[in-house]
Amino acid sequence: MVLSTTSNKFVIAPLLVLAAFFRPVPKTLSLYEAVEPHMGTLFRIKVYAPDQISAQRGFQAAFERIDQLDKIFSDYRPESELSRITQEALGHPVRVSEDLFRVAQASEQLSIGTGGAFDLTIGPLTHLWRQARQDHRLPQAEAVQSAIVRCGYTKMHLDTAARTVQFDAPQMLLDAGGIAKGYAADEAVMVLAKLGLHSALVAASGDLALSDAPPGQTGWKIGIDSFDRADKPFTHVLMLSNAAVSTSGNGEQHLNSGGKTYSHIIDPKTGMGLQDDVTVTAISRHGITADAAATAISVLGCERGLAYAESQPNLAVFILVKSDGRVKSFESARFQELLHDNSFKETGESDR
Ligand code: ADP
Ligand code: MG
Repeated sequence: MVLSTTSNKFVIAPLLVLAAFFRPVPKTLSLYEAVEPHMGTLFRIKVYAPDQISAQRGFQAAFERIDQLDKIFSDYRPESELSRITQEALGHPVRVSEDLFRVAQASEQLSIGTGGAFDLTIGPLTHLWRQARQDHRLPQAEAVQSAIVRCGYTKMHLDTAARTVQFDAPQMLLDAGGIAKGYAADEAVMVLAKLGLHSALVAASGDLALSDAPPGQTGWKIGIDSFDRADKPFTHVLMLSNAAVSTSGNGEQHLNSGGKTYSHIIDPKTGMGLQDDVTVTAISRHGITADAAATAISVLGCERGLAYAESQPNLAVFILVKSDGRVKSFESARFQELLHDNSFKETGESDR
């Protein structure tokens, strides 16, 4: 269509007026909060939104995404992709969902980086220990040994181009309990951002993912777990944005036997629940990394755990160890930096 200069002016002028009239005035954002049970825990979402309706829309979409991930990663549901895949992909490659592949890939990288301290294929052992906790009895040594041989990340093969997985041994089982909550928190934050809600905090009990800082603030105020000091102030308080924080420890899930306490975190080499009273907090750019790293470092223990943390450019770690009634704390160099500069900046390559 050809418009004459005059008609062009005629059309444009009122449009400019309208545009000026409807120019969005920056709205003030308020804090909204919602909680729902998912993945065997409570997911809490805090979000800054212009109004209740946008916040509600965000909560609904975020919880739907978390629910979708629970259906993929639950090892309590026999029909979940995670539960089915070890049988279906025995001896030949099977294409999996992007979510499962992403988690399997991140797990494999961490397994390689930690000499197998973190292992997604730890299912046979974690199922055995789950039963042991229910029975209040240590698993038999032979049962532990036969579970160990069904575990091992080197028996899982990933093909990135084809997005397939393959397993070498029968009766293998995956367990994403040490990584899926962090990943779900990341995904929830991303869903909120896609809806224009850029300042959010998603917490799956001890696994937190954060986007931009609350309006006018330098970050989300995160108190680092004070471990056995519920009545005392937090050990450290950080102001974080676009970061993730995960804490792993004995928590409620442990087994007491013969005067010893066995954690729900298992050392894949010995097949035994950890006995040291250690709480690890890992801070990274994404929840998938922070969650899995906190679990892995718990297995590695203080010295090797800190060495691993120092080898990772985007990982800050704080460890509390309790022995003989005394609590000692250890901090990675990156964690000390965070205490001083109070913001999480990515250095080098992104971890995802
Ligand atoms: P929480 O579930 O309490 O947040 P973690 O993130 O540390 O704690 O995850 C612990 C869970 O990870 C266990 O309940 C189990 O499902 C799984 N797991 C236990 N040991 C290992 C391991 N060595 N590698 C990978 N996952 C593990
Ligand atoms: Mg974890």
